[in-house]
Amino acid sequence: SYVGVHSTSFRDFLMKPELLRAIVDCGFEHPSEVQQETIPAAINGNDVLCQAKSGLGKTAVFVLATLNKITPVPGTVSAIVLCHTRELAYQIKNEYARFSKYLPEVKTEVLYGGVSIKHDQEIIGDKEKCPNVIVGTPGRILALVRDKTLRLSNVSSFVIDECDKVLEAIDMRRDVQEIFKATPHNKQVLMFSATLGKEIRPVCKKFMQDPREIYVDDEAKLTLHGLQQYYVTLPEAGKNRKLSEILDSLEFNQVVIFVKSVQRAKKLNELLNSSNFSSTCIHSGMPQASRIEIYKQFKDFTKRIMVATDIFGRGIDVERVNIVVNYDISPDADQYLHRVGRAGRFGTKGLAITFISTDEDKGVLESVQERFEVNITELPAEIDPKTY
Ligand code: ADP
Ligand code: MG
Repeated sequence: SYVGVHSTSFRDFLMKPELLRAIVDCGFEHPSEVQQETIPAAINGNDVLCQAKSGLGKTAVFVLATLNKITPVPGTVSAIVLCHTRELAYQIKNEYARFSKYLPEVKTEVLYGGVSIKHDQEIIGDKEKCPNVIVGTPGRILALVRDKTLRLSNVSSFVIDECDKVLEAIDMRRDVQEIFKATPHNKQVLMFSATLGKEIRPVCKKFMQDPREIYVDDEAKLTLHGLQQYYVTLPEAGKNRKLSEILDSLEFNQVVIFVKSVQRAKKLNELLNSSNFSSTCIHSGMPQASRIEIYKQFKDFTKRIMVATDIFGRGIDVERVNIVVNYDISPDADQYLHRVGRAGRFGTKGLAITFISTDEDKGVLESVQERFEVNITELPAEIDPKTY
């Protein structure tokens, strides 16, 4: 199978019965390979640095491990989860809600910038409302640590999702370091990504003690085999026409179209709507409340076409997305892998189509094929809808 599902059961892990019940309610039958490999180490208390392909359930690894460990003390934060975008933080918070269904005393909150900090301060400052698990982006969390609203002296689990991205930019890394320093020395650290280059591993390990390291060192193994990947060579001026042809002819449940800038996202979304494609868009140039609203609408299947910048390129899990279009190719091979991984979640089928209009585009496509040993061919005139 695509997912490498094992015949083992979640019951084989030593977990709270409340968690096992929630897993059944989520419809998870068997742990995926990464869950099989990583959950026992995490539950055992090890630090874990884990690389595993997109869509195979890394989130559940840290959500289950941290919830299993937690003994909620009212008014104190026990677990903190950091990630790079607000929508992803919001999504992870909802995963905590799903899995803590039968642990009603565990409170989770999501914290991110772009919305009033006062609201966050009120909740965290209130002993009754103070969350035991905090999920958020580094900037806002650090602001709350600095103003002494957020006390992290009882944290026993420290998680970074999309850790290579979070730690790659110097300013975000600094924020994380400062948050980390506000937590006790003795705690469990867990980090995850589909891409974990050799340069970033030592950076991650600086936060950890003797971690269990799980890497996919053969990059070919990061390719999603349920996903068909194609390219179209065309001039920039031909992109709109080709896109509308694709949207008219292919059978999609939901599609994400990636572009390289906020301006281009706005423009393309307007164009699609004026051509009677009911699309929506998400980018950093809109108010935060709208961003979350749009994320929810797309996840709830209210909209079927999403035009997005790279803020939507990593971590976002929308089950029904079966086509990804790179209207503008990603800046590099890693980001390509993350973007196309929005289709084909949990080993399902999908289709990725990339527009190539410059030599530079071609170079990125070539580096993707080399690194991930994937053969990306020209988009054929027809594709059997059963195959994606
Ligand atoms: P990753 O972070 O590895 O890219 P996610 O954690 O976002 O992947 O999970 C991808 C999808 O797979 C989610 O919709 C999640 O609910 C689902 N999923 C995870 N584990 C299982 C499982 N064991 N059985 C069925 N579905 C699962
Ligand atoms: Mg993820």
